[in-house]
Amino acid sequence: MTETLIKVDLNGSPLTNDMVHNRWHPDIPMVAKVKPGDDFILECYDWTGGFIKNNDSADDVRDVDLTTVHYLSGPIEVEGAEPGDLLVVDFLDIGVLPGNEWGFNGFFSKQNGGGFLTDYFPQAQKSIWDIKGMFTSSRHIPGVNFAGLIHPGLIGCLPDAPMLEMWNKREKALIATNPTRVPGLANPPYAPTAHMGRMTGEARDEAAATGARTVPPREHGGNCDIKDLSRGARVYFPVYVKGAGLSVGDLHFSQGDGEITFCGAIEMPGFIHLGIHSLIKGGMAKYGIKNPIFKPSPIKPNYQDYLIFEGISVDDSGTQHYLDMFTAYQQACLNAINYLKKFGYSGAQAYSILGTAPVQGHISGIVDVPNACATLYLPTEIFEFDINPTAAGPVQMIKGGVDMPLSPDK
Ligand code: ZN
Repeated sequence: MTETLIKVDLNGSPLTNDMVHNRWHPDIPMVAKVKPGDDFILECYDWTGGFIKNNDSADDVRDVDLTTVHYLSGPIEVEGAEPGDLLVVDFLDIGVLPGNEWGFNGFFSKQNGGGFLTDYFPQAQKSIWDIKGMFTSSRHIPGVNFAGLIHPGLIGCLPDAPMLEMWNKREKALIATNPTRVPGLANPPYAPTAHMGRMTGEARDEAAATGARTVPPREHGGNCDIKDLSRGARVYFPVYVKGAGLSVGDLHFSQGDGEITFCGAIEMPGFIHLGIHSLIKGGMAKYGIKNPIFKPSPIKPNYQDYLIFEGISVDDSGTQHYLDMFTAYQQACLNAINYLKKFGYSGAQAYSILGTAPVQGHISGIVDVPNACATLYLPTEIFEFDINPTAAGPVQMIKGGVDMPLSPDK
């Protein structure tokens, strides 16, 4: 029988669970040991540790303390793993925990986190998604139902000391260019809410003061939010410390490319069944690997038909940006949102669909000065009505009444 190495109690606080942590630091003690060939299950809290509730208020999204995230299960020690190796990990299965068949999606307030379209949606909003087997739908967003491409938003191995120092140095330098910006340019170490797993005493306090926050993706992988890292994928992780120290969390039932809503995909607690396929000794140098590489799953939601929205690097004020993919993807998303509003959705509902459904984002053109071109692929089959353009014009299918809860800033 496959052993569950880490269990979580969703009625308790993740702070009392010493097999989870919310910072990256090389000295966080390993909580379990496995060897190549082993497979095992890790349970995970949702990324906020249970702060966001299944209700009809967005107050929790507005008020969440973002210094507390993400709660990660691990680190897991892999026998024989040494710095410079590649750790080959199979994602054998991922799923919900019984009794917890729901997830959340939201937009942070611009004052507390912000997001990709925060200038257009500056206040906290939330949608709750019910999960029925492999399908999901939301009482806050009628007319859509889709199969999830379930994946961990965040997974990677512990950094070594020089790598941690490099992360902190470069991110502090970025913050220094505009230290009062809201939201901040990056998130520096913050000791008061650090959970350092099994570390104790002075060593713990020192590590809490320098442990890297878990928000960005970095060389080790981390919070990459790649929807295609789904069950059936095989990932090759760079190893930096003896034993590797693999940690995982931030499970997503489904997410569109970019995780544009930031809070976040369809977020959920759950389990992940991992297999340690092998170690490739010295694999980082052998293959010139700096960041993880991976192979996709053999199974995927089978959506074949898309309506594809283009965006270019000219913003809403008419300002020309030079090959700026951030602006171009924003414009592609806004074009899709404006289109969906013609069928009766609120802007927030349309935004949430783009953040949660198996939407694809593509870098289509990045050389045709001065405009980058981004494309957003919206699957038409997730809608319970026809969203294609016709001579008759759009029919208002979504008729008032239901919208996502919104919480104004205090
Ligand atoms: Zn997430």
